[in-house]
Amino acid sequence: MDYNGYEDDERVLERKRIISDGDEKGLRPVSFDDYHGQRKVKENLKIFIEGAKSRGEALDHVLLYGPPGLGKTTLAGIIAAEMGVALHITTGPSIEKAGDLAALLTNLNENEVLFIDEIHRLNKSVEEVLYPAMEDYALDIMIGKGPSARSVRLDLPRFTLVGATTRAGMISAPMRDRFGMIHRLELYDTRDLMDILRRDAGILGISISEEGLENIASRSRGTPRIAIRLLKRMRDYANYLNKDIIDKEISDFGLKALDIDDLGLDTIDKRVLMTIADVFKGGPVGLDTLAATTGEDPVTIEDVYEPFLLQNGFLQKTPRGRMLTVRAYEHLKYPVPAELKAKNQAAFENLTIESYLDSKGDQQ
Ligand code: ADP
Repeated sequence: MDYNGYEDDERVLERKRIISDGDEKGLRPVSFDDYHGQRKVKENLKIFIEGAKSRGEALDHVLLYGPPGLGKTTLAGIIAAEMGVALHITTGPSIEKAGDLAALLTNLNENEVLFIDEIHRLNKSVEEVLYPAMEDYALDIMIGKGPSARSVRLDLPRFTLVGATTRAGMISAPMRDRFGMIHRLELYDTRDLMDILRRDAGILGISISEEGLENIASRSRGTPRIAIRLLKRMRDYANYLNKDIIDKEISDFGLKALDIDDLGLDTIDKRVLMTIADVFKGGPVGLDTLAATTGEDPVTIEDVYEPFLLQNGFLQKTPRGRMLTVRAYEHLKYPVPAELKAKNQAAFENLTIESYLDSKGDQQ
């Protein structure tokens, strides 16, 4: 436990679910009206759901991708609720054998929704059973062994598969082609996160001022799961300080106590940046070397810390490795190395709209 009373290995800004998130069910919106942000995805889904409903058919299969905590599971639940059918939830790694998937599929009723989280982690043999199921609503089962083995085709009810992944690039092409809709969930802006928090504070009976909402929302890495977690922790700080409302003062105090700075960086982000500055003179440094020096797992650095640091201009990815930016030095209150300053100045003087757009593209 740390001095805040939370488990040491539970990072507050972690996007994946952690133990103290508890049961998220009570807060999950069940209709599009309560699902804030992601307007484009919502508008499209509404149209296709209306269409499927009016024809009495199952909705086309949907693939949702984006970082953890952005609302993929929630959206699967809303799709099922709007279609008026049951939702079945499972994850890629928990379906070990083709038979496990067959059991899941044969248990579905007409038009129901099967949600497979982390669908990129399905193994090959399971994926192959899924193809005819998605395409023809059929299961090909092998009966017998050796030369007398034969394949029997079983009809399945029409269903909707909602697949979720954090990495669209890891989905095989044949699998991707079988989804009728592919939607990418975006990070939320502060306004949308404030709307989400306002609703959740109401459900949880937490009083919070507009400034408190903005303070939390702007430091949640564009991620509802993190915003909700911070809201709950601010409630504890308000409690501790005998206040009945989370206002600017309480949220400032709480965020400081959790070591989250005014741009939303925590101690681990800063450790990564400082290591590049102190040990590697600003980089470039390769992922594995950085991981070994900071004592973090390379996958965690790549999936969890780096996207935020890249997106906010603290890190730059070059073919030779990660490099600190002027912004990172300034934020750490370190002197900006003269060569970096000069390079930046030169780049700025030669900047054209095309080269700027190109360099942004390289960082995606
Ligand atoms: P994912 O499946 O992408 O990891 P979840 O669907 O589990 O994310 O969402 C995490 C939490 O954030 C849930 O408790 C849910 O209530 C909340 N949430 C996510 N997106 C939204 C949204 N657009 N509007 C309201 N709440 C949301």
